[in-house]
Formats: sequence, structure tokens, C-alpha cells
Amino acid sequence: MENTVQMSVGLKKKQRSAPSPFYPKGRQVDPKALEQVQNLLEKKSRRRDLLIEHLHLIQDQFGHLSAQHLAALAEEMKLAMAEVFEVATFYAHFDVILDDKTPPPEITIRVCNSLTCELMGAEDLYVRLNKKYNDKIRIVRAPCMGRCETAPVCEIGHYHVNKATIKRVSEALKKGQVHPEIPPYKNFKTYQSDGGYSLLRDCLANKHTVDDLIDILSASGLRGLGGAGFPTGQKWKIVRSYKAPRLMAVNADEGEPGTFKDRTYLETDPHRFIEGMLIAAWVVEAEEVYIYLRDEYPGIRNILLEEIKIIEDAGLADHVKINLRRGAGAYICGEESAMIESIEGKRGLPRHRPPYVAEVGLFQRPTLVQNVETLYWIREIFERGPDWFSNQGRNGRKGLRSFSVSGRVKEPGVKLAPAGITMRELIDEYCGGMANGHTFKGYLPGGASGGILSAAMSDIPLDFGTLEEHGCFIGSAAIVALSNKDNASKAALNLMRFFKDESCGQCTPCRVGTEKATALMEKPKWDEKLLRDLSNAMTDASICGLGQAASNPLKMVLDHFRDDISFK
Ligand code: SF4
Repeated sequence: MENTVQMSVGLKKKQRSAPSPFYPKGRQVDPKALEQVQNLLEKKSRRRDLLIEHLHLIQDQFGHLSAQHLAALAEEMKLAMAEVFEVATFYAHFDVILDDKTPPPEITIRVCNSLTCELMGAEDLYVRLNKKYNDKIRIVRAPCMGRCETAPVCEIGHYHVNKATIKRVSEALKKGQVHPEIPPYKNFKTYQSDGGYSLLRDCLANKHTVDDLIDILSASGLRGLGGAGFPTGQKWKIVRSYKAPRLMAVNADEGEPGTFKDRTYLETDPHRFIEGMLIAAWVVEAEEVYIYLRDEYPGIRNILLEEIKIIEDAGLADHVKINLRRGAGAYICGEESAMIESIEGKRGLPRHRPPYVAEVGLFQRPTLVQNVETLYWIREIFERGPDWFSNQGRNGRKGLRSFSVSGRVKEPGVKLAPAGITMRELIDEYCGGMANGHTFKGYLPGGASGGILSAAMSDIPLDFGTLEEHGCFIGSAAIVALSNKDNASKAALNLMRFFKDESCGQCTPCRVGTEKATALMEKPKWDEKLLRDLSNAMTDASICGLGQAASNPLKMVLDHFRDDISFK
């Protein structure tokens, strides 16, 4: 026995003195980085779904995400390091620098390269900014910033330069403008003095029934205005049919290039949206509501943080907990199931359906997902009556649509016009005609994925269900006008590049298809047969709408703008 003990002690001594053959795997947690992360998170919850919020905190503080901070965050949130890395590297707004010797420069200028900005000279601006600032400032191309009416646009830090020129950018840099500008908007007091929150108060006091509200909305014909166009009253009924507890998620991630209506409404009259949201949450008895706001709208984030606090203090949100979540630069998160994944703190990969999110949504609960604009109209429809909304419309269509119009028109902007208006009428009656020196050549009726139509097709009513027979759709009503100075094949290439960058990579037809299509479209001569075959494979076999619709502009250009293409 004594011998055994002595042998054991001897072995331990030997183990201690000899170099260990074992070492911990993976990146080790740096104590200083861990302390910094702990200080930043303070008493905040370490829940898994807050991962993206915490990544933002770190990036805001240190300007980028270092390998040490990611490892420290993984440790602190008790997550596998791979999970933190895969989320951080999925989103375009996270600057992951694994080699900590080369952190990014203090200032980054993002130049929007969406179609409208490109038409207005963004590429030339990008080249000239690079020449002027070279190694002092980082200049990068970035997807649509939702300010197409003031194209070209760039962003210094979080400050947006509208109608950007070298001069305007230099002036903003000299003034040190890196924070978002808060536009003047209708505040709580003004909104309330105008009758705001009366409808919500009446609902909370049970002066209205849930069925009354659903009936009125159904009679108005209000549909989901984020792109899908699903009847709102019916959606409320469906969500209510699933067993509580239920949740609600607001899609404020309008990333479709050319769309800026939600931004416009949130920047001018945020309480009209908030009231609609609180009423919808009351109808479906949602315990919590999650607003998923795109990171390109930092000014709106500040507005909502302030105004939500005010309505909470006023006791108007006692029936539901409001969570404001920040996107991180991923177009695919505008797709509802990808958005839900992102709110849960994961990569924004669209889910396979069924089940639909109304039944199994956020945190596996029945979830009402609504777009900002849909909620924005609720108060107005109740005050003016459902007929006020449904009696508007042209060419047999019903309701109002907020068209985000940009491109070669004289007066771009959000145009509230009857559903079913034609492009020709929209240009002439709402946009002051075409811009000087430009002749109308064609248009995108539904943003990047909605296809491209020629001027000869400018008499088609613009609404849900009217464009499909022409291979297009209206989506979120983002209209981009093209003129005789624009080449439609180049426009289609811009859009395909966008989809290649934004594909989530989950399925091969989309991930590889967008890449191959871009390469084929970059060639001086197009191989029509190959492009059509590829396009059909993407449409037929992709999991979600991004891959299925990515080649719409390509197909339309092949059909309607053959003079703009050189064929093999
Ligand atoms: Fe992702 Fe594209 Fe597949 Fe959609 S179609 S799941 S975006 S790879």
C-alpha cells in the first residue's frame, strides 16, 4: 500500500515536470478580452437570441470584431465558438478581423451600389473617393441603403450623405459627421393631440371586439405590404387559431433595392406605426413583439428607442413587451423565416415550410409577422372606415399603394397612389414626368427581384396579381425608371451581382447559380441558351424566393431588351 502511494505521488511529480502532450483545442480566451466583454455586457442577459445584439455592442465599442472578442463572447454566452463565428461572419455589417494586427481604419465610407445609385454615378464616385482618400479611409461598396430618392448615397460611419458628390463627402468628413441625422418627425404629444392612440385605448378598454377589428380590416382589403400581399384580416384570424402563447414580429428590414417607403413613414410619423403594432399585438394576444429593424436605419433606431420608452411610460404597452432588434446587413433577413432565425440570434437562413411561421414561428411559437406599412394604415382605416381604403384604386384594383419611385424621373420619392395605377400614369401624374433629357425606356415594377418591363408595357396596372402573367411581380412596390441613357443588360447584371452577394448559401441552385450567372453576364457576349437553362434551374430548384426570383431581371431583359445585349 505504502509503495502504491509513493508510486502515485512519484507519477504526479513526473507528470508535473514533463511537458504535457495535451493542450486545449481551439482559440483560447484572452483574459483581457473577456473582461472587456463582461464590462460591456454588464447585467444584460446572456440568452442565445441576444448574440447579434451583443456582437453589435462589441463592434460599436471597438470598431470591429476581433478573434479574441469573439472567443470571449462565446465563453461568456456559453456558446460553441463556431456558432459565434458563423453568425458574425454571415452578416455584412460585422467587421470580423481575425488577424488583430490589422484592424480596419477608424472611418469607413460605404458607397451604395444598388441599381438606382449606379444609374446616378455611384461607381464613378467610388473610384474617385478611393483615389482621393486612398489608404487613410476605407472605401467599400455596399448594398441598397433605402435612400434611392436621393441617389447616389454613401454612408460615413452612420451618417448618410444624400446626393453624394466628392465635395459633399469632403465637407461631411471635415465636420466629423459620423452619427445618424434625426429628421424632424411627429412626436408623441403631437400625434396624441391629433387623436392618436384613441383607437388603441378603446381596444384596451374593450370598447371594440377582436372580431370587429378583423372584420373591418378584411372589408378594407388591406394586404401585407412588405411584398407578399397576404390579406391582413385573414392572417390575424389564422394566427389566433393557433394555441397561445403567441408572439409578433415586425419586419422593418426593407432591403429590397429601390424600396424606401417604410423608412419614410418611420422617419415622419413613427407613432402611427407603433399604434398599429400595439393594436395588432392586442388582437392576436401576443405576449411579446420583436421589431426587426435594418441596420441601415440608425436614425430610426434612435427615434424608436426614445418613442417606445414614452409609450411604455404612458402605460400604452402594458399588454405586450416590446423588443427592438437590430439587423446586421443581410437582405435575406427580409424573408420572414430568415428574419425569425436572425431574431433568434442565428444566421438568417430561410426555413423550409410548412410549418408556416403563423403556426411555428419565433421560438417555436405561433407568430404574427407584419410589415411596417401594413401596421401604419390600421388607425386610418378604422377612423375613415374600410370603404375609404377599398374605394381607392384604378383599373379594377382596390386600395392604396405606397410606391417608392426612383431612377430617371423628375420627382422621385414615395408616391401614395391608387393600386392598379399604370407606370405611365405614375410618371406623368405623380413624378412630374421623366427627368430632363431622358426618354422612358423601361422599369422595374417590384425592386430587384420583380423583373424589368419595357416602355411598351407601361399600361399594365401595378398591383398584386397583375404582373405575374408578364413574368414580374409588384413585391414592395419599388419602381425604378430606366431611360434611353441606360443599358438594360447592365441593369440586370447589377441585380444579379446583388443576389450573388446576398444569397445565404443554403442551397446550390441559388448559391452557385447566381455566381455562374454573374460570370456569364459579365462576358462581352451572352450565351442565351446557357443563361436560360441556368435561370430555369434556379427558379425551379431554389429553396426560397431569393433564388427563385433572382433571374427574373435576366429573363425579362432577354425577352424585352434584346437590342441592349450582344449575343454569342
Ligand atoms: Fe439561401 Fe438562396 Fe437558397 Fe434562399 S434560395 S435558401 S437565399 S441559397
